[in-house]
This record gives sequence, structure tokens and C-alpha cells, in this order.
Amino acid sequence: MKRALITGVTGQDGRHLAEFLTTQGYQVFGLIRGQNNPKSAMVAAENPALELVDGDLRDLSSLIGIVEQVQPDEVYNLGAISFVQLSFKQAELTAEITGLGVLRMLEAVRIVGGTQNNPIRFYQASSSEMFGKVRETPQTEQTPFHPRSPYGVAKVFGHYTTLNYREAYGIHASSGILFNHEGPRRGLEFVTRKVTNSVARIKLGLQNNITLGDLDPKRDWGYAGDYVKAMWMMLQQDEPDDYVISTGETHSIRELLDVAFRLAGYDDWTRFVKQDPRFYRPSEVNLLIGDATKAREKLGWVPKVSFEELVAMMYENDLKEESERARHPH
Ligand code: NAP
Repeated sequence: MKRALITGVTGQDGRHLAEFLTTQGYQVFGLIRGQNNPKSAMVAAENPALELVDGDLRDLSSLIGIVEQVQPDEVYNLGAISFVQLSFKQAELTAEITGLGVLRMLEAVRIVGGTQNNPIRFYQASSSEMFGKVRETPQTEQTPFHPRSPYGVAKVFGHYTTLNYREAYGIHASSGILFNHEGPRRGLEFVTRKVTNSVARIKLGLQNNITLGDLDPKRDWGYAGDYVKAMWMMLQQDEPDDYVISTGETHSIRELLDVAFRLAGYDDWTRFVKQDPRFYRPSEVNLLIGDATKAREKLGWVPKVSFEELVAMMYENDLKEESERARHPH
């Protein structure tokens, strides 16, 4: 039975990946941070086969201890401060966890190492936010980085650290440059989920409007369930490498609003949407669209869920959850 260790197992991707690896027959271990983390019970109930281990990406000795204890075949480093807006307000913490956390996890893998015949394989969750003020469209593995947030800068550090450990120590370390991916498990702070949840609440009469920032930025949005499979596929290759994972389509936040409000039966959303400069980023990323040709050709990976299907999946889930919560408030 193969053994996988996931950092960030309480996050959107960690939950999908733990589920996927369990169905692939893996014994899955998830790193949980903090004392009495409130999300432990939720992930344990969702996936009873998952084993939780205590550690923190800020604490190298905890990571070494976990890698020694778990003896994983594969490590998926998904833990991060991942919300770009927060990274502007907590830049140092973002560099510490999203950036240096990668170095610490790789150090733990290098030091413990795995067996000679079975060295530990490593996946790093890189991001399209590294492209930032894009130098070319669409973006590929060769596109230069120009990050526009402390989050993007920290991810560039993590990305190059992964590349360096691959080249310097021969570690099977791969980096997935994933474009935005969403789903019903997306945090409510992210714009897609904020929109689908607010539209569901407006439909149910629980909320009057929604306050957003800039509506013009365009993103290449896919479904998280499709994207975690690409992470696993990368670690099954003979050689480690970097891969762009994206749908190849881009949509603005206005288009997201069009689709979500149409699902709720409203053709004109302008009366429901307010804009507030507090939600603008100090430096924005205007357009992201990825070219995942390499992943398609080398991994055989293709996204299955379209943008419209994704928004519908999220809206339907929010409608169900919010109506249940309204019926049983406690
Ligand atoms: P997420 O939902 O925000 O989850 C972040 C995870 O990181 C949570 O499990 C969180 O644990 C954990 N974490 C935070 N600080 C930590 C620390 N000090 N030590 C250990 N774990 C810590 O993120 P996601 O959407 O699943 O994304 C997964 C990864 O992919 C992240 O690295 C993200 O930056 C990257 N990524 C995401 C996207 C996307 O569109 N979703 C795109 C590209 C790259 P708690 O629950 O305890 O806070």
C-alpha cells in the first residue's frame, strides 16, 4: 500500500486529494496544524480512512518528525496562506508559510530521504499568480514570472526552491503551476464562492446584496476535483517536471456574475452588486489564461468540468446548504 502525506489537508484541494488518493488505494496522512484545530473533526468525518498528524510548516523539526513517522512514498505540499488579499495585509506570514514552508518541507524530505530504492516524491502547489503582470498570453511553463502580490512572490520562491532541490539533490520534486480552481469546498473568502453563496442567499431572501471589488479581472477557472488528479499524475512520471494546469478559457468576474445570477433566475444583477475599494488589490492581476498542452501530451490530463458546470455545481450546493442552515439554524 502506497503512503502519501498531504500538507494543507483541511483546505479545498487537500480534501479532494485525500479523497482521490484513498480511492486509489493509498494510506493517506494529513498534516494538521495548531492545538485543537477546529477543522480536524470535519476532515476526519469526511474521510474516516485519513490519518491526521500534528505539525506546522513554520516548524522544521515537526516536519522531519512527521516524515520519519509516516515514511511516505509521496508528499503533496498544499499548505499555504493562499488568499491573495490577505497576503497584502500579512506579507511576512505569507513569506514564512507559503514561501519558506516549501523549503522546510523539502528539507525534511531531503534529510529523511526515503529508501534508496524508493525515494520520496514531492509535489509543490505552485500558482498562476506567479505570472502576475503577464508577459505573454496564454501562459506556459516557459512564460517568465512577474508576481503582483506577496502571495505570488512567495510562490515564486517555493517554485524555484522545488526546482533547485530537484537539480541539486536529485529529488523527484515536481511543481504544478495550477490556474484558479474552485468547487463547493472553496473558502467563502474567494470571489467565486462568495458570489455563488451570496446569490443563493439572495435567492432565499437571506441577503440583499453582495459587495465586491474590481469586476474586470479575468481568470482561467477550473474544477478542483479535476486538478488534484493532475497533481497525482505528475508524481507517477519517471522524471519530475513542471506543468501548467488550466482549462485554456478565461472569464471575467462580470461573466461569473452573469452565470450565477442567471441560475437563480435574475437576468440583471446590477441592482444586487455593490463595489467597495476595500476589496481592490493594491496591485491587480488583470488576465490569466493557461496553456496546458504539456500536461495533456505528457500526463494525458484534460479538465472535465466546464465553467458553466462549475458555477452551477457551486450554486446548487450553496442553495442546498443555505436552505438547510435556514431551516436548522443551530
Ligand atoms: P486553502 O483552501 O486556503 O488551504 C490552505 C491550507 O493550508 C489549509 O489546510 C491550511 O490549514 C493550511 N495551512 C495554513 N497555514 C499552515 C501552516 N502554518 N502549516 C501547515 N498548514 C498550513 O488552499 P487550496 O485552495 O486548497 O490550495 C491548495 C494549495 O494550492 C495552496 O498552496 C494554494 O496556494 C495553491 N493553489 C491554489 C489554487 C486555487 O485556485 N485553489 C491555485 C493555485 C495554487 P488550516 O485549515 O489549519 O488553516
